[in-house]
Amino acid sequence: MQYIAALDQGTTSTRCMVFDHNGNVVGVDQREHTQIFPQPGWVEHNPAEIWQRTQGVIAGALAAANIEKSDLAALGITNQRETTVIWDRHTGKAIYNALVWQDTRTDALVRQFAADGGQDRFRAQTGLPLATYFSATKIRWLLDQVEGAQAAAEAGDLLFGTIDCFVAWWLTGGPHGGLHITDTTNASRTLLLNLTTGDWDAELLEIFRIPRSMLPNVRSSSEVYGTCRGQLDGVPLAGILGDQQAATVGQVCFEVGEAKNTYGTGNFMLLNTGERLVQSRHGLITTPAYHFGKQPTWALEGSIAVTGSLVQWLRDNLGIIHSAAEVEPLAASVADNGGVYLVPAFSGLFAPHWRSDARGVLVGLTRYANKAHIARAALEATAYQTREVVSAMAQDSGVELTALKVDGGMVANELLMQFQADILGVPVVRPKVAETTALGAAYAAGLAVGYWANPAELRANWSESKRWEPQMSSDQRDSLYAQWNKAVQRTLNWQE
Ligand code: ADP
Repeated sequence: MQYIAALDQGTTSTRCMVFDHNGNVVGVDQREHTQIFPQPGWVEHNPAEIWQRTQGVIAGALAAANIEKSDLAALGITNQRETTVIWDRHTGKAIYNALVWQDTRTDALVRQFAADGGQDRFRAQTGLPLATYFSATKIRWLLDQVEGAQAAAEAGDLLFGTIDCFVAWWLTGGPHGGLHITDTTNASRTLLLNLTTGDWDAELLEIFRIPRSMLPNVRSSSEVYGTCRGQLDGVPLAGILGDQQAATVGQVCFEVGEAKNTYGTGNFMLLNTGERLVQSRHGLITTPAYHFGKQPTWALEGSIAVTGSLVQWLRDNLGIIHSAAEVEPLAASVADNGGVYLVPAFSGLFAPHWRSDARGVLVGLTRYANKAHIARAALEATAYQTREVVSAMAQDSGVELTALKVDGGMVANELLMQFQADILGVPVVRPKVAETTALGAAYAAGLAVGYWANPAELRANWSESKRWEPQMSSDQRDSLYAQWNKAVQRTLNWQE
């Protein structure tokens, strides 16, 4: 009996999961890593700690599944996207902490680049607006701020990678012949990939002054890249997908018009647009859904920076709950939000606004409001932000959603799921295997080694566990959403 392992290096934790042929989890291990917040707006991870956690969870998952590395047919990687690491190719030592996707320290750089041609100046090539979110300005910041880094990069001594690339390099040998590779889905988040050619864009590299020698080779999302060394010696590394793309695969969104929404640290909705590369006109981004075979399959994506992390903020910064799960009973202790709206523009606003300068607001407070209203407003914020993205998708694609497939840590929250169905006016559907991100990476790796024959075979593994039907009147839905939109306006230009 053989299995597929998936490594899921996420924003808050690293997981390793072992799957069988039916997509069932037979072993899992998960460890958190430190979130480093040196200044307002700065978010870092320690790359050495991430590599340590990675090795730890691989050992833990094999032990939990009670199997050996020789029982693995392949390994797939999925990861937090855009997060940027630069390291020394001779030693593997990072020149600085990883700059996390939520980090807004490059706001000034973004404005500087946007001054010459606007925020959408690279959209045609990359599918993305200029924003702190993507890797390019993070690389620029590191090469500027770390002494000697630009010269070392130009001399060929430094390597850049998103987290998939960093982990893949270590897994396949590190300084001793490690593969410096990434896949199309991760490469597309750097603001340096030309979507049409599928390779790094020479003009963009010049504009950002990034030496090509530090960039990884861009490969498909499902192929045998090489074999692991060390702990997983001999296991084929055969799949790499950014976490949201992996969830799209795990939710088997293989047909045009199929979409999934993942509720984790942030929320990310992807709509499969097939072979058609659709440029958004309503604040979404164009991204590969996955790259199996010769050509990528495309998607429109709505990225929301802060959803589950707002629940963490209630826990860690306000202390009004002790665990994420407590937010639900607290919110359910009041009948409605009491007129309170919380717009968590902590990393600026992503889709569909793309305002790096926006900051969070809590509005509608009266002497009546209490912590339960704030908890409720926090959950509702996730649902309203999702509605903004769903509206943009309908406008861009002309396709009206009929149901929303959901996954991620927050979908355990029944109150949120019901409110989501209410505020969208369409059913919300949760699958049986909630770990769609890891599952998608396992699928990519399993397809490459023939463990699964084709994507159609994977569809049989998907089944519904629960569905929430909308119950709210359309009048109420529209009036709540109108209030939300007013609150969003307050996040912009509030200092002026
Ligand atoms: P990621 O992969 O981005 O690290 P997960 O999918 O593991 O995230 O989801 C974790 C997020 O979900 C955390 O931000 C946490 O605050 C939130 N979360 C977990 N359980 C609940 C819950 N019951 N209600 C609301 N939010 C929750």
